Amino acid sequence: MAVPFIDLKRQYATIQADLDRAILAAVADTHYIMGPNVRLLEEELAAYLGVPHAIGCASGSDALLLALLALDLKPGDEVITTPFTFFATAGCIVRAGAKPVFADIDASFNIDPAAVEAAITPRTRAIIPVHLYGRAADMGRLTAIARTRGLALVEDCAQAIGAAWDGKKLGSFGAAGCISFFPTKNLGALGDGGMVVTGDAKFADTLRLLRVHGAKPKYYHKLVGMNSRLDELQAAALRVKLTRLDGWNARRIELAALYDGKLAGLPVERPAPPRAGDFIYHQYTILCDRRDDLLAHLKGRGIEAGVYYPLSLHLQECFADLGYRRGDMPRSEAAERRALSLPLFPEMTPAEMDEVAGAVRDFPW
Ligand SMILES: *Cc1c(COP(=O)(O)O)cnc(C)c1O
Repeated sequence: MAVPFIDLKRQYATIQADLDRAILAAVADTHYIMGPNVRLLEEELAAYLGVPHAIGCASGSDALLLALLALDLKPGDEVITTPFTFFATAGCIVRAGAKPVFADIDASFNIDPAAVEAAITPRTRAIIPVHLYGRAADMGRLTAIARTRGLALVEDCAQAIGAAWDGKKLGSFGAAGCISFFPTKNLGALGDGGMVVTGDAKFADTLRLLRVHGAKPKYYHKLVGMNSRLDELQAAALRVKLTRLDGWNARRIELAALYDGKLAGLPVERPAPPRAGDFIYHQYTILCDRRDDLLAHLKGRGIEAGVYYPLSLHLQECFADLGYRRGDMPRSEAAERRALSLPLFPEMTPAEMDEVAGAVRDFPW
C-alpha cells in the first residue's frame, strides 16, 4: 500500500461544503484586498493565540521579514537563530539588513538556550527561535535570556500553530510571533499566506504600515515598506479551517503516540515525548544512522518520507561570507544526516500507519 506524505484532498473532502461556501461568498462580495475576511481572521487568530494584535501578510516568510523590518535593525546588528530550520528564518535577517548568527540545536531539534547565551555580543539585537516540527522551543529560558539581555524575541511559529509552552500559546511570548499558512502547514491556506501577531500596539501599527508600502493615509508614505497583504480568498478559507485546527492537532498527537508504540524497540530514535500541549507534530521525525538507505527503502515500498533539512543553514552557499565551517554546529550537522520525517497527517488511517511502521521494521538494519 502506497502511503503519501500528506494528502490535502482528504482534508478538503472533510470540509468541502463549508469551504466552497466561504470562498464563493468572498468571490461574490468582491472586497478582494483587505476585505472583511482578513479583518475577521486577524481577530479570530489573535483571540485563539491570546495576543491583542494580528496582522495578515502574504506568507510566513514575509511575516518574518515584516517583524524584522519593524525592529528597525541597523547594518552590523546581529540576530541569533538556529541553523536547523527552513531558509526563511535566516534569510529575513539578511533581507532586513542585519547579520545572522547561528546557535546550535539541542536534543529537541530546537535552538539551545545555552548556545544562544554564548553567541550574544554587544551587537546582538534579537533572537529568532523556531518551534521546529511543531514542538515548542524552551520559551522559559529564551524569554529570560531576552529579558535580561534586552533583546527582542521573534518566534518562528510556522510549524507550530496551536502548540503552547506552560499553557501559553506559542507566538505570544516575544515582540512578535510569525505564522505561515503554506498549504501543508497545520493551518494551511489554498496558496500562500502569513500572519504576524504581537502584544505591542505600536509594533502592530508599524507592521500594518509596512505591509502597505508604509502608506498612511494612502499615497503618503511614512516608511519604506512592501506590498505584503493576506489575500481575502485565503482568509475566507482559513477562517473555515481555523475552527478545525484543534481537532486536527489533537489527531496528530494521537497518531504520533501510535507511531511511538509501533516503532518501539527499533534502532531509531523517536521524538522525545511531549510536555502537555507543547508539541502538535507538524512532523513526526526520527533519527537513525543510514537515513538515506531507509528513505530509499521506504520509497521502494511507495511510502513518502521527508528530509527536513538536508543542509544546515550555516553551510549554505549564500551564507559563505559569514565564515562558518562544517563542524561549527555539530548537533545540527548530525541532524541533517540522520533526521527523517515519516508521513503524519490528521486523515492518515491506522492501516497506513501499520504499513509505514512495518516497512521501518523490515529495513535490513
Ligand atoms: C514554512 C516555513 C516558513 C516560511 O513560510 P512560507 O509561508 O512558506 O513563506 C518559515 N519558517 C519555517 C520554520 C517554516 O517551516
